[in-house]
Amino acid sequence: MKYCSKCVMPDTRPDLRFDRDGVCDACRSFERKHKSIDWEARRRDFEEMLKKYGNRNPTKYDCIIPVSGGKDSHLTLHYAKDVYGLKPLCVCFEPTLSTEIGRQNLANISRLGVDLIHFKQNPIVYKKLIMEGFRRVGDMEWANHMGIWSVPVHFAIQFDIPFIFWGESPQLEYGGAETVSETNKRQFNEDWLNDYGCLNGLRPQDMVDEKNGITLRDLQMYIYPGREDVERWGGRGVFMGYYFIWNNAHNLSIIERMGFSRRRGRIEVSYTDYEKLDCLSMNLHDYLKYLKYGYGRATDSACIEVRNGIISREEGVRLVEKYDGRYPKECVERFCEEFAIGRDEFDALCEPFINRALFENEGGTLKRDLDGSLVFKVKFVERRRNP
Ligand SMILES: [Zn+2]
Repeated sequence: MKYCSKCVMPDTRPDLRFDRDGVCDACRSFERKHKSIDWEARRRDFEEMLKKYGNRNPTKYDCIIPVSGGKDSHLTLHYAKDVYGLKPLCVCFEPTLSTEIGRQNLANISRLGVDLIHFKQNPIVYKKLIMEGFRRVGDMEWANHMGIWSVPVHFAIQFDIPFIFWGESPQLEYGGAETVSETNKRQFNEDWLNDYGCLNGLRPQDMVDEKNGITLRDLQMYIYPGREDVERWGGRGVFMGYYFIWNNAHNLSIIERMGFSRRRGRIEVSYTDYEKLDCLSMNLHDYLKYLKYGYGRATDSACIEVRNGIISREEGVRLVEKYDGRYPKECVERFCEEFAIGRDEFDALCEPFINRALFENEGGTLKRDLDGSLVFKVKFVERRRNP
């Protein structure tokens, strides 16, 4: 395991490449983003695209904006509605463990003056899918990713809406950009979803299970619309972060003016108070990521801030050491309550996904601190400090 010499990302991150100088491609793509990308030209490209493929029917919506109430949904709405005067239809896929602040922010989206479809999935089926994703691929948010990516496309086709506007492509934000084609940086479609949508090779169809009472029909909204339907629709999914600078400090100043609220106090798995606010289960997804790859949400956030020059690499390391990998007790308890399992059972479900090479063990048994946190091997802590 090695670390980027500029940020604090390890090479265990899927799809991340390092160059000869030991710098990760997320850092390199950040440098390019700020030095060589002509943002004015990108903005013109966006406007061209609106003109060429946009809605010409005044009785129809111009675009779909998938919203959670988070920071990206606010900013995307800002560009579509305030900057370009488009008529959006917002679509929210109900989160797994919704939070008070998430509900407030979603209500704020609505208050800004848009039509909003709040898609409340069948909770009996959804709960089964959540547990299946947890068991099979170590990701309790698998069904949520599937729903978030697919449901808006179904609505776009049904209502004949030409655009779906997403925030920033995760590969641009968090790394892995070198392996992503130019098209995939700006365009969302089924190929993108299969390659980069966090699906771990699992398809909704794989979840059909007579014993578990899940039928194909239960999954229709989770299954990406068929190629024929998509072609007939002729619309497109667009990552706004390709066309407009996506930068936390700048974005927050815009969306706070729109009424976006931060959390009082940081989220449980990191030091920030403005991201992943709408769903507690996303914190567990990040915890599992830590168990699999040895880095969590604090690393993601620190890398972005190191690249933006807000903190030094040394400060980033300190934040990561302080917050990454701590056992997220509050989220685990809430999850266990909701899904009627015990904490032992939760830990046992995590166990097969732990990368044992990363953590200390005693005679084969993983070492845990009193608070339940696994102990990261000292040699990796050292390597992160001195890449
Ligand atoms: Zn880096």
